[in-house]
Amino acid sequence: MDVRNCSRCGKIYAYDGFNICLQCRRKDEEDFKKVKEYIDENPGVNISEVSEETGVDTKKIISFLREGRLEVEDEHNLLLSCERCGASIKTGRFCEKCTVEMQREFKQSIGGGRDPKDLENGRAKERIRITDRYKKR
Ligand SMILES: [Zn+2]
Ligand SMILES: [Zn+2]
Repeated sequence: MDVRNCSRCGKIYAYDGFNICLQCRRKDEEDFKKVKEYIDENPGVNISEVSEETGVDTKKIISFLREGRLEVEDEHNLLLSCERCGASIKTGRFCEKCTVEMQREFKQSIGGGRDPKDLENGRAKERIRITDRYKKR
């Protein structure tokens, strides 16, 4: 059995392909649900408001954006940028152009993600919403 330390909480867990333990993943799911419900009820809210109202950390909300579960409404935001060319993106890790190019080149060798820009409280004013594929119930 492959045993590792959870990169989130540091506890030892049986590695099953994820970098964080089951408890932390469950917590993420709960947090995502809270965020999703709040955005559903309050369309057009920004990240700071969502974070304050749900108690979910801004950085975690950004990681939901990176995972493509949420998207920023404004395409020209400073929050998310393509990890390949630096262009502003609304969701995920790469812009559409790079995604297409990478698929064409068939390269999977892109290194680990950059940390989200350090956000001081009240600076993350970008409005976010649920991406369409997660909105369906
Ligand atoms: Zn953990
Ligand atoms: Zn790009």
